[in-house]
Amino acid sequence: MTKEIDLLVEQIDVRKDELIELLKRLIEYKTPAPPARNTMEAQQFVANFLRENGFSIDMWDVYPNDPNVVGFLEGKQADTFNSLIINGHIDVAEVNEDEKWEANPFIPIVKDGAIIGRGASDMKGGLAGALFAIKLLHEAGIDLPGSLTFQSVIGEEVGEAGTLECCKRGYTADFAVVVDTSDLHIQGQGGVITGWITVKSSQTFHDATRRQMLHAGGKLFGSSAIEKMMKIIHGLQELERHWAVMKGYPGFIPGTNTINPAVIEGGRHAAFIADECRLWITVHYYPNESHEQIIKEIEEHLLHVAKADPWLRENPPTFVWGGKSMIVDRGEIFPSLEVDPTHPGVKQLASAHQGIINSKAVVDVSPTVTDGGWLGAAGIPTAIYGPGNLQNAHSVNEQVSIEQLIEYTKVILTFIYEWCHTKRT
Ligand SMILES: [Zn+2]
Repeated sequence: MTKEIDLLVEQIDVRKDELIELLKRLIEYKTPAPPARNTMEAQQFVANFLRENGFSIDMWDVYPNDPNVVGFLEGKQADTFNSLIINGHIDVAEVNEDEKWEANPFIPIVKDGAIIGRGASDMKGGLAGALFAIKLLHEAGIDLPGSLTFQSVIGEEVGEAGTLECCKRGYTADFAVVVDTSDLHIQGQGGVITGWITVKSSQTFHDATRRQMLHAGGKLFGSSAIEKMMKIIHGLQELERHWAVMKGYPGFIPGTNTINPAVIEGGRHAAFIADECRLWITVHYYPNESHEQIIKEIEEHLLHVAKADPWLRENPPTFVWGGKSMIVDRGEIFPSLEVDPTHPGVKQLASAHQGIINSKAVVDVSPTVTDGGWLGAAGIPTAIYGPGNLQNAHSVNEQVSIEQLIEYTKVILTFIYEWCHTKRT
């Protein structure tokens, strides 16, 4: 480490109250999703903060009152030095009225060495630390040779891919860090895709015809879509078990690749045979798999199940996969992310961690999903690294340890400094 960065890191201890105040300020902006559409003021604050620290700002509505903010600080030798994206989401998990918080979840308090408030762990702590690091670099007058992009995105908690919108807008870098909840582990993740499976009859029959479609001599080729969906669900359970037996990925307990029949809707009225049934499923898959591959496996399996049933053979299930939002079109995708431990960005992040924390960085997999998959899918080598833990994410009295927040801020400051001072290989 150079002397310049050592002095800056020391500043974090000296000025930790400012860091705490910054996190409290972010928590005070009420940005729960659902209901969403409430991040404008918080995003304006982030945009102003970045502007004051030398960044140019791109801010655009992904949804009304839910804008993305991308700050860009061009490196002094951008052609030859490494560039970096820091990414985080400004929305937080919803708060239910019956939750028993110590205090108002949006008026943060400090207690027993922790900051308590909605988003402390997931993930305004990660955003605050990275923003504070940027401020320290700016105030010290340090011109980074490589370019730095800061993305504050919306919608992550409801599967709205603010990060995908940044990628579509062309933002890229040599490496990206998603500063979401990881308890200071360097992480990849499995993927998630939701889908709707529909069983539909081309005809609608009166309830009184049921005997004719079930019993000897009835001669009516019809069926209840609800009962046929039972076969589909059974087929999904067989596939889920087959995956659990046959697939695996280091860091995951076998059987983490689940197929959850989450919501079922069907039938029109008690006087009719159900002519339509829809099943909403959530599928978790491993970091080395893609949602395209998973879709193919599920569809192929269920179409074989359908072939073994005379009615489903003629009326096979149909599929609608993914979606842009759990609250708008009832669907989402979180692509998986593999972390390459030999990538220079991962190695440098691990060494910054070890230098500050005095213990070896853990490189593993997140048991949940983040926006990291979108950056990876856009071809940007990416890792998840942030303060807070998943016991706290989305929980009552969500909190982050101040000690860990400070450690994280030191690591991310060191990493930004060093990575953007390293020549591109
Ligand atoms: Zn998060």
